[in-house]
Amino acid sequence: MSLLSAQLVSAGYGDSRAVSDIVLTLAPGELLALVGANGAGKSTLLRVLAGAHKPTSGSVWLKDVDISPLTDFERNRLGISLVPEGRRLFASLTVLENLMVGAGSGRVGEWTADRVVDTLPMLKPLLKRNASRLSGGQQQAVSIGRALMSNPEVLLLDEVSLGLAPIIIDELYESLAVVRQSGLGIILVEQDLSRTVAVADRIICLLEGHVVLQGAAGDLSHEQITDAYFGHS
Ligand code: ATP
Repeated sequence: MSLLSAQLVSAGYGDSRAVSDIVLTLAPGELLALVGANGAGKSTLLRVLAGAHKPTSGSVWLKDVDISPLTDFERNRLGISLVPEGRRLFASLTVLENLMVGAGSGRVGEWTADRVVDTLPMLKPLLKRNASRLSGGQQQAVSIGRALMSNPEVLLLDEVSLGLAPIIIDELYESLAVVRQSGLGIILVEQDLSRTVAVADRIICLLEGHVVLQGAAGDLSHEQITDAYFGHS
C-alpha cells in the first residue's frame, strides 16, 4: 500500500488552474522529487498534499484513509509535515523553542530535540539563539528540524536549497540522507536538477500543472528530464 497518494488532484487560484489531474504515490522510505520550471505547480501540489491549499477536485490519501476533508493541522497530527518555502520560523523565539513548536503540533514519537541536533549538527551551537539571528541555511535547518519534531511519516520539502551556499546545501542533504534511513517518505521540490537526480528514487516532472514525465531517477536521462522541464517534445 502507498504511504501517501493523490488521486486526480486539480487545484488553482480563483479561475486559474495551477495543477491538473495529478496522480501520485509515495512509498515508505522513498524520496520522490517534484521538478519543473517556475510556476509549474510544484508548491501548489505540495500544499494540497499538506492540506494547506484546498483542491478543486480529487482526493489525497494517507495509506487507506481519505484525508481530503482534513485541515493541515489535522494532517500534521496524522504524520504529514510540510517544510514550507521561506521557512516561516517564529523570529522572536529561540531555535530550541522553534523546534518545540513542532513537537507540540504533531504525533508522539521518537524525534526529540537531541535527535534533531544529532541529525542536523549545525543546530548544536545555536539552540539558545534567537531565530531572527540565523543565516538562511541555519533557518532552513531549524525548519526541517521543527518538521521532524512532529514525528512525520511523510515529509514534504519545498525548495530546501533556494538561495543557500553550496556547502550548506551539501550539509542539509547529508542530514536528509540520515532522515531517510528512519523510513519516512519524502517529497522534495528542488530547482537543482543534477542534485535531484543524485538523491531521488523517483522523479515527477510538472509542466504547466500537468505531469509530463515520471520514472525512477536511474531510468531517466538528463536529456529526458530537461526536455520535459522545458516542454520540448
Ligand atoms: P515556483 O518554483 O516559482 O515556486 P511552482 O512550480 O512551485 O513555482 P506554484 O507556486 O505552485 O508553482 O504556482 C503554480 C501557478 O499558480 C503559477 O501560475 C502561479 O503564478 C500561480 N500561483 C501560485 N500561488 C498563487 C497565489 N497565491 N495566487 C494566485 N496565483 C498563484
